[in-house]
Amino acid sequence: LSAGKIIGQQQALPQAGVSSRGLQIDVRGAALQFGDLTVLRDLDLSISAGQFLAVVGRSGCGKSTLLRLLAGLEQASQGSVAIGGTATSGLRPDVRVMFQDARLLPWKSVLDNVRIGVEGGDRAKALEALELVGLADRAKEWPSVLSGGQRQRVALARALVSNPRLLLFDEPLGALDALTRIEMQQLIERLWLERGFTAVLVTHDVSEAVALADRVVLIENGTISQDSAIALARPREKDNGFAHYENSIL
Ligand code: ADP
Ligand code: MG
Repeated sequence: LSAGKIIGQQQALPQAGVSSRGLQIDVRGAALQFGDLTVLRDLDLSISAGQFLAVVGRSGCGKSTLLRLLAGLEQASQGSVAIGGTATSGLRPDVRVMFQDARLLPWKSVLDNVRIGVEGGDRAKALEALELVGLADRAKEWPSVLSGGQRQRVALARALVSNPRLLLFDEPLGALDALTRIEMQQLIERLWLERGFTAVLVTHDVSEAVALADRVVLIENGTISQDSAIALARPREKDNGFAHYENSIL
């Protein structure tokens, strides 16, 4: 984490997005074991509403486990995890997860895959979500005829169709070629700006973390070993609280 954009410890910086509709996350002293294996320990993490946090670290360090913990898909053996002020227990309807593989149902059309993500299978909302990701014209096709990047767009539409307040990404662009990855990064950034959800992106790609997030945490030995605010290359809001810091380093 030595990129020039990193400007210091998170605690010293103003918080962006206090009026966001995104969910706030508070993890306190969390630990998680699988049998004898301690994957996470002494984990404290507060993510403010509307923040874009990236989690980086070596393969096997516990990134996916942390994401599942935030999703309510794992329970901490010690400590607490609160999402929007409420202790987690199971996946909430206003929280969505996107994985490296799109996990589309091959026997359903693109549109029907997106309809799965919204209550009542609302067709109009599903079409609208497909429009957001630029795939409305492929609504009637089977997932199998799409490229890997297009399948991830469908997965993104399915995640967004219910207008979640927290979006958790587990290496969603890891299997894509470099150009498609950049397009998807731009799409995710635009949707985050428009929709105002809190975003947590797990990635082993530090440059992707720095490109997308306004804060990056590094996981080592099962806990957060580094926590850095990122100065954004271009302003994301009229005044996101970071302008002063950008001006001082650019
Ligand atoms: P990362 O996503 O950073 O690559 P993971 O969170 O997937 O790491 O895994 C962290 C560690 O926990 C690894 O050693 C992995 O083998 C182990 N692990 C993950 N899930 C389970 C599970 N359900 N049961 C047992 N061990 C697990
Ligand atoms: Mg993982």
